[in-house]
Amino acid sequence: MVPVASVRAAAAPKPGSLTALRKQAQEAYKAIADATKTLDAQQKQFNQTNKQLAAKLKELDKANKRLEQIRQPLSGLIESVYQDPSASGMGPLFAKGDGTTTLRAMSDVDHLAVGRNTVLDDAARLLKDKQKLAAEAQDLRSANLLEEAQMSHQVDTLRAKSSDVVKTLTQSLTKLGVDVDQGNRGTQACDPTRVSAAAQFPNGLLPKTSLCPLPQKGRELRADAAIAFADMNLAYSKNFGKQMCVADSYRSLASQQAIYYQRPGFAATPGRSNHGLGLAVDLCGGVQNSGSVQFNWMEANSKRYGFIHPAWAYSNPFEPWHWEYDPKLGASL
Ligand SMILES: [Zn+2]
Repeated sequence: MVPVASVRAAAAPKPGSLTALRKQAQEAYKAIADATKTLDAQQKQFNQTNKQLAAKLKELDKANKRLEQIRQPLSGLIESVYQDPSASGMGPLFAKGDGTTTLRAMSDVDHLAVGRNTVLDDAARLLKDKQKLAAEAQDLRSANLLEEAQMSHQVDTLRAKSSDVVKTLTQSLTKLGVDVDQGNRGTQACDPTRVSAAAQFPNGLLPKTSLCPLPQKGRELRADAAIAFADMNLAYSKNFGKQMCVADSYRSLASQQAIYYQRPGFAATPGRSNHGLGLAVDLCGGVQNSGSVQFNWMEANSKRYGFIHPAWAYSNPFEPWHWEYDPKLGASL
């Protein structure tokens, strides 16, 4: 064992702990996204039900108005017939003195009265329906408000938890000399929770926010790979007394093209290299020599941190320096 003079052992986190923190942060992020989705779906459902209730109430109002229009003149007509048949226009029917006609006229008036009562009954039923619907709408609003308050409280708790985890992770990375806010990132620092978002970008075109710096200045990888690398670098440092040597890491499409045209056959076809996905590193400091103690250490330990030496790199082309983070392996750890 080589002494660990160059590593700040007291403050440094344990190898593997950064990845654990990153996973916690990612889970918290996913929980927030899920809760927000549920909240949105609930809001949509509420709006739809509310709209349906409002439409029903409007229909009831219309029906009520129609009844009102019939009821007033009908009542007026019946009253006037009873009081003064001649004034209602039905006078001639009563005035003829013909018993049959009078009876028929009386029966017509009775019909009108029955009709008026039906209208009154209908109006009462409509009013009841309207009150029921209004109460239903009120209940829905109250239930929704309560649920919304509970959900947003839940989202707030998740947010606080997520921000705590990210803060702890950032502090741990800073302790390792990883300047998370380096350059002009500002508030757009690398986001360890957005790994799935990073996977959607094309090779060599990853946005700054989905790349995280390595302890080695100027080098960066996709957030999950960078944090796993920091963990591996910590273990390596404890063993060798110095940080890993990184010759190359993330490569933008432009730099992949430049390397390809300078040394065709040496680099992968532009847009095809795992360097462009922010998952590959080219190592130096001994690892570049197959069979060296550093190379052997990598072979024995890298998988514990999600890093592999791909099969092709053993022979075709022979690239002992090329190591890759395997997200599936990393996620399974
Ligand atoms: Zn490489």
